[in-house]
Amino acid sequence: MKLGIIEYIDCAHFLPEHPKCGKVHGHTYKIEVVVQGEPKDGMLLDFRDLKTQVREVLATYDHGHWNDVMEYPSVENICQLLHTRLQARLAFEFTLRVFEGHGKWAEM
Ligand SMILES: [Zn+2]
Repeated sequence: MKLGIIEYIDCAHFLPEHPKCGKVHGHTYKIEVVVQGEPKDGMLLDFRDLKTQVREVLATYDHGHWNDVMEYPSVENICQLLHTRLQARLAFEFTLRVFEGHGKWAEM
């Protein structure tokens, strides 16, 4: 069984030396977390608990500047960072997909 939630954060970033993304600009990042496991008594995980865990991690970065956090804030590196932070909190196997604006994403 899979269970998913979607959250959003707004952040600024730039990619050093990149011809187009080298100037500071912002994105709305859509964060999709899908946990996987066996439901017990009709429930895999309470949505509220999952949202609390994910929101606490995302709150660190929302309305912040990714370049203060990492050297090269590509969507791949952002996905990797958020995956590491969530892995420390979630007891289930999960997939994380990070959308940078519309139609572009990275998944782990
Ligand atoms: Zn960008």
